[in-house]
Amino acid sequence: LVAEPSSLKGSSKSPPNILWIVWDTVRADRLSLYGYAKKTTPFLESFSREALVFDNALSSASSTLPSHASLFTGLLPSEHGTHERQPILPGDLRTIAESLADRSYQSFFWAANPFLGKSFARGFDREEHPWDPDQREAAAAMVRRKTRGRLPPGMPPGSWLLKAAGELAEERVVRFLEQRHRDRPWLVFLNYMEAHRPWLPPKKYRNRMLSPEQVEASYQLDLSWERTWSFVFGLEELAAEELQIMSGLYDASLLELDSMLESLLTRLQQQGLLDQTLVIITADHGELLGEHHLLDHQFSLYAAVTHVPLILWGPELVGAGRNADPVMSLDLFPTILELAGVDLQTDSGLAVSLLRSRATRQRLAEYPAFDPDAFRQVQGRHPGFQPQAWMRRLRALHHEGYKLIEGEDGRHELYHWRRDPAELQDLWGEQPDLARAMQQRLEETVAQLRPRHARGGDELSEAQRRMLQGLGYAVTEGLDSAGNGATPAARSSWRLTDPSRK
Ligand SMILES: [Zn+2]
Repeated sequence: LVAEPSSLKGSSKSPPNILWIVWDTVRADRLSLYGYAKKTTPFLESFSREALVFDNALSSASSTLPSHASLFTGLLPSEHGTHERQPILPGDLRTIAESLADRSYQSFFWAANPFLGKSFARGFDREEHPWDPDQREAAAAMVRRKTRGRLPPGMPPGSWLLKAAGELAEERVVRFLEQRHRDRPWLVFLNYMEAHRPWLPPKKYRNRMLSPEQVEASYQLDLSWERTWSFVFGLEELAAEELQIMSGLYDASLLELDSMLESLLTRLQQQGLLDQTLVIITADHGELLGEHHLLDHQFSLYAAVTHVPLILWGPELVGAGRNADPVMSLDLFPTILELAGVDLQTDSGLAVSLLRSRATRQRLAEYPAFDPDAFRQVQGRHPGFQPQAWMRRLRALHHEGYKLIEGEDGRHELYHWRRDPAELQDLWGEQPDLARAMQQRLEETVAQLRPRHARGGDELSEAQRRMLQGLGYAVTEGLDSAGNGATPAARSSWRLTDPSRK
């Protein structure tokens, strides 16, 4: 069964309501909807029988800021210039919410991710977070209840604790919809952080994914950043059992998200609020759970972090079925605007409407800035650590069955992502003709990218700069803008478009 783009009916009708859910840090292959053996998403599976499910959706980046900026602008990270070192979405980029406001949409933004601040809520009528003064207490009570007061060692305080209060979103959405103007369409955006480490799922979900002994051990597991990055940088090992428990905690958190989705959608459906509504379920990026000796979602562009779920529900609007075309999550930008009847004023870069996806195209994911905080977090335990090898940006070009990952230090990896989805067999040295052709394609694709924002290159915060200097680096403007000084000179597509190196 393949969805029929020509069955699009939205354009002749009034603009649809849009309920847009981002499950932060959710990789597609861990959802039972996408074939995972454990039942992590039973509700989503049944809900998706009437939905358009994209099997090959690529996120534009591996972390929250660049990926959400892409979702909201349709641009790639090196075009919108937003990442961990430039956390503000530039004011001169027009967002989906701003475009929909012009079409008289009323809108609501609720985000549990502490990175998603005011600049991301631009264009929305209301912005809320679980740490807002009027939600904070309820959020803390929810987290206490679900963890029974047992927080993992190394749990960061403040906002990062309240991130796990996703249940709150349902109450706030219902309140917003009760107060809405009945004669205008609405846009609701929700970011849920349950799947983001450190994981805090209730015991009933742990029981479904872990043995009784593992459940007990899961409350003692050290999920601190110090330990996470020490493993990633090869400074400390984790026992296989620890990795298994992490994996089970992640699965338990997916089950929790699925249950929250069921509760929200059932309630909205009962109130007739899903009529003429497009429901979008996706993720900003995935998560590494020990593959490639990595955890979390920095420093790589492997499929674990770039292959994301993408589901559109709106039987009258988009049809239903499985779609295996190569798509990107930033394709949502032109898709939503098209359904809302907004003319695309400017070209939207590589983004293509999901209503007219195609079998062949170039897709690019980027890692636009490395995270110096991770270096700082291991410094106390491993003062001799040399982070040079990790100080590099990455690009990953997907073309037909192949994927080329290029680091700005000139290191490459080449995989057949269809035959080898775990990316275990690096073809870079084995197939030089293919490698050359892919590198050529990458350079051609990158040459089409244009920075669309007013500001310059990356910026290190003063704290990051001091930390790098503490590690013995002479931090210069060159490092900020192009990574020079940190990495050896080598052929790299990053040199082609760096806005600060015109
Ligand atoms: Zn994220």
